[in-house]
Amino acid sequence: MAASPSATTSADTLAGPVPRYDAIVIGAGISGLYQLHRLRRLGLTVRVFETGTGVGGTWYWNRYPGARFDSESYSYGYSFSKELLEEWDWTEHFSPQPETERYLNHVADKFDLRRDIQFGARVVAATWQEAPREWDIELADGSHHRARFLITAIGPLSAPQMPRLAGIDSFKGPSFHTARWPKEPVDFTGKRVAVIGTGATGVQTIQEVAKTCGSLTIFQRTPNWCAPLHNGKIDAAEMRAIKDGYPAMFAHCRETFSCFLHTTDPRATFEVSDAEREAFYEKLYGERGFGIWVGNFRDMLTDPKANAAISDFVARKIRQRVKDQTVAEKLIPRNHGFGTRRVPLETKYYEVYNQPNVTLVDIKETPIEAITATGLRTSAADFAFDMIVYATGFDAITGSFDRIDIRGVDGQRLKDTWTGGPQTYLGVQVEDFPNMMMLMGPHTALGNIPRSIEYNVDWVTGLIGHMRDHGLTRVEATAEGVATWTEHVRKVGAGLLSNEVNSWFTGINSNIDGKQTRVIARYSGSAPEYRATCDAVAAGGYRELMLG
Ligand code: NAP
Repeated sequence: MAASPSATTSADTLAGPVPRYDAIVIGAGISGLYQLHRLRRLGLTVRVFETGTGVGGTWYWNRYPGARFDSESYSYGYSFSKELLEEWDWTEHFSPQPETERYLNHVADKFDLRRDIQFGARVVAATWQEAPREWDIELADGSHHRARFLITAIGPLSAPQMPRLAGIDSFKGPSFHTARWPKEPVDFTGKRVAVIGTGATGVQTIQEVAKTCGSLTIFQRTPNWCAPLHNGKIDAAEMRAIKDGYPAMFAHCRETFSCFLHTTDPRATFEVSDAEREAFYEKLYGERGFGIWVGNFRDMLTDPKANAAISDFVARKIRQRVKDQTVAEKLIPRNHGFGTRRVPLETKYYEVYNQPNVTLVDIKETPIEAITATGLRTSAADFAFDMIVYATGFDAITGSFDRIDIRGVDGQRLKDTWTGGPQTYLGVQVEDFPNMMMLMGPHTALGNIPRSIEYNVDWVTGLIGHMRDHGLTRVEATAEGVATWTEHVRKVGAGLLSNEVNSWFTGINSNIDGKQTRVIARYSGSAPEYRATCDAVAAGGYRELMLG
């Protein structure tokens, strides 16, 4: 495979030949950076287009106050380079966004990645060209670029979504979506601040803003079940021990259901006595990270009664931590059980509601009618604010694809192919979209994302390497492969309580037309099973794909 501008073709413009590469990667986040590194090592010419002005993806854009990992820092870094593991020190068990952004910049520098990344470059369209077997990529500036392979590294949570509210542009003060937070620090001191949204992002924002603001009013539509993060500093001795334990730790992550450090408890909820169960919940509530979610009894997310038991435990915790019981009751979810949506991890989140300057507004009781010039109006009252924060989440999983006009064979639009839900082969390929590989696309195992990313990237690199070695230039998922995988994804998700609840996990977004019906958007089987399937395809020479 060779790249670089060659003979003039119909795609070339008056401005000159269209640049050609072996591969174009969209996005310079954790997956795009690693994919660039791997393909370069394979000897390919690669161009990465990144909308932002720096690397980091999620950790570049989400610079809202309080943004930090919810997975243990050391389990979240790249594992592919021993040298990198050895030289990087994490300072906290759950790294704050600035540190993570520094880390990803360090990676970009260390592996000299920047020279192949074009920043401030938003991809608006990608069109498959059958004859030359190339993707034509159009940027927002009107320029075109071509490549044999298109690799989407655009993330499952990267298309920020504003709420649909009347008058949204009329507010005169500063307002921010959390995923488009300014680089300059925002000072909340003495300010009257509104936060709309109480997902994982809202929770992190709220607990930070509450420290300095004049007053904080939280507009909550659906409460979420939050659990303590138990963050802490990492000193030099502990970091040394973590480094020494890396091989074992990464091996362990490879074995767990979703690549987290925590392992599902093999017992069922009611196999143990009431006292043992309570003690186990208490232990998990007191431990760091996602243990209470992914290290709980094995039936917690499948048996409604088991789920009710842990929900009742966490509800009691909320009642203990929040002084005003009317407020506590509003903070307890009623329409879904613990862990059936992503569990926000928190640090004194519930205690924020004990502050005299904090007000919780349940917008199911008193809906927001409009954003006004001076604040917002609910059905019950007018509120005046100096700042409004929209922590209203993302057009998840397929949203970042929908925002690019991706057209495959015969001009078919990916968005149309996925009406009614995504259909993929292994979450990596789509029928009629040859040579397009998705990293962390729909139907892949997400879990502890960097662990899944490294596998995903390695697999895609293996496929491209195989094609190069065999002189192949076109790869496409078969209709049968897509149907089988999509059905498999549906089957492994059946019986999982999280797939019976509205959230981004199930493709629901109240702010977007056409996203009000649940779909199976994520692969919810185990990561080891996912990898075994993909490994078998690779070992068999990718016979399940159409190669030519
Ligand atoms: P989210 O979980 O989708 O939460 C969005 C919030 O905004 C919800 O409370 C939602 O209410 C509310 N909302 C949306 N539209 C609204 C409207 N029109 N009016 C009023 N409220 C509205 O989004 P997120 O909090 O940004 O989190 C998304 C995901 O990002 C997380 O689940 C997690 O996977 C990831 N994340 C990770 C970290 C980390 O690792 N540290 C941190 C933050 C986020 P409803 O629930 O009623 O729709």
